[in-house]
Amino acid sequence: MYIDEIVLDNFKSFGRTTRIPFYQDFTTISGPNGSGKSNIIDAILFALGLARTRGMRAEKLTDLIYNPSHEDGDGAGPDEANVEVILNNEDGTLSRSQVVNAAGSEDVGDVDRIRVKRRVKRTEDNYYSYYYLNGRSVNLSDITDLLAQAGVTPEGYNVVMQGDVTGIIQMTPHERREIVDEIAGVAEFDQKKADAFEE
Ligand code: ATP
Ligand code: MG
Repeated sequence: MYIDEIVLDNFKSFGRTTRIPFYQDFTTISGPNGSGKSNIIDAILFALGLARTRGMRAEKLTDLIYNPSHEDGDGAGPDEANVEVILNNEDGTLSRSQVVNAAGSEDVGDVDRIRVKRRVKRTEDNYYSYYYLNGRSVNLSDITDLLAQAGVTPEGYNVVMQGDVTGIIQMTPHERREIVDEIAGVAEFDQKKADAFEE
């Protein structure tokens, strides 16, 4: 499974609908400072529910909505942002029944392409966040559980953020070993073993 394309709509600096295609193996994005490269990564984290607001470099969720006068902080602009991540699932990483389960409906259409969409909407005195899976309204936990079945988790290293590599280099060998255990799936058993000893 890999990301086919993402569609941003009033997300951060993307004030109009922008489709960004990705290649299967490797895609790089280049551009001048401040042109929105990192905002694209933030958009993926946002739509897939992989980060808290700080991970997306925003104080609050509504800061993610395109603001035409962003630099001076004046709030006039659209009142919602949308990001859709289209996952290519042609290799069958996720089965139809897994998608149906997560969506809570048989009506999920084609599962060769899995569409995860998130919307944040501002109202006068509040804001709302919505998730959709192939057009069906779902909860964050439905998305999280589905992605976990494909090996994509918030704690995982699917996304390596700026500073993460430095962090790993500066760790003690023991801490680094813990990451390897986590990735290899050994950590889970260490925890179970510790729990068993306690009993
Ligand atoms: P660098 O090469 O320096 O890492 P970058 O291409 O990664 O730059 P980003 O951090 O993605 O750049 O984009 C930063 C730009 O996004 C800034 O100009 C900032 O004003 C703009 N921006 C962030 N949030 C919003 C928003 N809500 N509305 C409009 N613009 C925004
Ligand atoms: Mg950047």
